[in-house]
Amino acid sequence: MARYTGAVCKLCRREGMKLYLKGERCYKDKCGFEKKGYPPGQHGQGRKKVSDYGLQLREKQKVKRLYGVLETQFRRYFDKATRMEGITGENLLQLLERRLDNFVYRAGYAGSRKEARQMVRHSHFMVDGRKVNIPSFLVKPGMVVELREKSDSHPRVVECIETAEGRGIPEWISLEKENKKASIHRLPERGDVQYEIQEHLIVELYSK
Ligand code: SF4
Repeated sequence: MARYTGAVCKLCRREGMKLYLKGERCYKDKCGFEKKGYPPGQHGQGRKKVSDYGLQLREKQKVKRLYGVLETQFRRYFDKATRMEGITGENLLQLLERRLDNFVYRAGYAGSRKEARQMVRHSHFMVDGRKVNIPSFLVKPGMVVELREKSDSHPRVVECIETAEGRGIPEWISLEKENKKASIHRLPERGDVQYEIQEHLIVELYSK
């Protein structure tokens, strides 16, 4: 599958927000966005007037990059969100939050969503006792996600779990740190997504 392979800190600078793409580095002073909080490129610091379309497009790109989802899949999430009850923008964020790779990152098993995706693909996790290696798998309330026996003492996982509490585990996830087990006790709500996202701009963009 096609993936962006350039400098990821430039993406945060382009979107004007920390996208947490580099694991622990994102929480330290070395963060590229903390050092240069303006867009990359020769004219990055110049003032630009952005059209409504430009704002909507940037918001969509920002959310896609944050969750590491490509255009076609993102569009599918949007279409699904429009068919759900409730507010489309909030439904879209809820679907993205429910992805297994996001859950693994949010629960603290991995330092970034990219790392979480790789761990899921390498079959390190079981959902309700069954091996799942599909990053886009959607978790739902009542499900339990745990590390497989061969993976639960992996030094990287142990390190991530130790540091995860510092960045906060969302309320919709219950983590049993000792058992390396996490469960979903409710669906994620808008308030659980504490990023600066204006999801209504994405809805406006796709509704044209
Ligand atoms: Fe973005 Fe900072 Fe992480 Fe780089 S280190 S990916 S700029 S949040």
